[in-house]
Amino acid sequence: MEVLNFVDGAFQTTAQVLENVAPGSGEKFGTIPRSGAAEVDKAMAAAKRAFPSWSKTPAAERAACLERLADAVQANAAMLAEAEAKDNGKPVSLAAHVDIPRAEKNLRFYASGIQHFASHSHAMEGEAINYTLRKPLGVVACISPWNLPLYLFTWKVAPALAAGNCVVAKPSELTPVTAYLLSTWIKDAGFPDGVFNVLHGLGPEVGEAMVTHPDIAAVSFTGGTVTGARIAGHVAPKFKKMSLELGGKNPAVIFEDADMEEALRTTLRSSFANQGQICLCGSRILVQRSIYDAFRDALVAKASKMVAGDPLDPSTKLGAVVSEAHMNKILSYIELAKEEGGQVLCGGERLRPAGVEGGFYVAPTVIEGLGPKCRTNQEEIFGPVVTLQPFDTEEEALALANDTAYGLAATLWTTDLKRAHRVAAGIESGIVWVNTWLLRDLRTPFGGVKASGLGREGGFDALEFFTEPQNICIKL
Ligand code: NAD
Repeated sequence: MEVLNFVDGAFQTTAQVLENVAPGSGEKFGTIPRSGAAEVDKAMAAAKRAFPSWSKTPAAERAACLERLADAVQANAAMLAEAEAKDNGKPVSLAAHVDIPRAEKNLRFYASGIQHFASHSHAMEGEAINYTLRKPLGVVACISPWNLPLYLFTWKVAPALAAGNCVVAKPSELTPVTAYLLSTWIKDAGFPDGVFNVLHGLGPEVGEAMVTHPDIAAVSFTGGTVTGARIAGHVAPKFKKMSLELGGKNPAVIFEDADMEEALRTTLRSSFANQGQICLCGSRILVQRSIYDAFRDALVAKASKMVAGDPLDPSTKLGAVVSEAHMNKILSYIELAKEEGGQVLCGGERLRPAGVEGGFYVAPTVIEGLGPKCRTNQEEIFGPVVTLQPFDTEEEALALANDTAYGLAATLWTTDLKRAHRVAAGIESGIVWVNTWLLRDLRTPFGGVKASGLGREGGFDALEFFTEPQNICIKL
């Protein structure tokens, strides 16, 4: 498949292209544009031209465009799920049940959300009345990662467009296909030319040109912490708004009074879903000592039974990781864990499933015997690799959970209500799940603290991010 840029309502090629590889097979299956500053200039100019009219278009009309785009996603859901599985390596069943329905939901959620969005008014006891206008920002850059490609792409562009901004968006160069497919329906959905532009290419080239462009009003970025820091270095000195959703090293804390079956079942999922490549996956599993051995043995038994296979096979539960380079990074972290004194209880190696031997597969890996300060327990691996650590007391559990530079999400397992509230409030993270994982209400604030990011997405938080408040004070 030849992926193309979508700029000012038309598809455009670039002088140079990049190869796109299917991680499930290791085979090349298409090309993507290698865009740079020239393409960004064109997209920015088109978006700037479109902004005065789009920003004044009634919210209901902007919402109707998003609804029609959502209709196209819904009508093409099976094709999109297959495309996502091929491009990313994730099981097609996961893409069909999670990624694509959620992409559709994101578009519909903000089509509705903008029509319920309200601003404040402050009365000054007979003297004056203040009201707040919330104005779209202008042209915004939306940059998304490869792990949940269409899901996270739409999570950004939907609130940005709903709020009346024009968008220059870039999916990850590793997983460009579903954003490209989405761009084929933008015109039919009724978006005027220039309102919604999609560029493809390498982060340090086209991404960097986007975030350093003088006309960009705000940057919404999801990706790694190192990239986030680099983007912040460009954007902060210009006092532009930015939202940064970054990495994690999330704890799953399992107390002895937990519902063991449920905790095990869900921890298996929170460890290895999407091959462990979800920023919300729990990679540090902390287990109370009295149940440590039993929990470890049961988790290892379940993880060892997971079978990797062709992402395009509907029965596959464990697919490939996103690229050869990423697979090698994960494997090198497993070697590091061994050097640091960890014992690999299961997995620890590349897999070559029959029929897709050239793909990039890593066995679900559980490691124990490592202290909290080692690199394995401090750095984000972003693959199917988890560590186990025992703890004795609630205080110790909390100290271990918080002993990281990151603070995205945490999971607690306990049937003691008081403990659940106490420990949840003590955890330094943007999200805490109690007796569940990845249960998402799109109205809630989503994001991390510490090195996991800046700002919140979701609900009205995203609409607030993509608008500028202006106080109007009228003397009575
Ligand atoms: P990445 O930082 O390498 O890339 C993310 C995006 O940024 C890509 O589109 C990339 O092309 C672009 N990019 C790279 N360098 C750039 C630059 N200098 N300027 C502008 N854009 C640039 O991240 P990734 O490897 O694609 O994604 C994995 C990371 O994303 C993990 O750390 C994961 O935890 C994180 N993530 C976070 C969340 C969250 O909500 N907090 C969600 C998903 C993934």
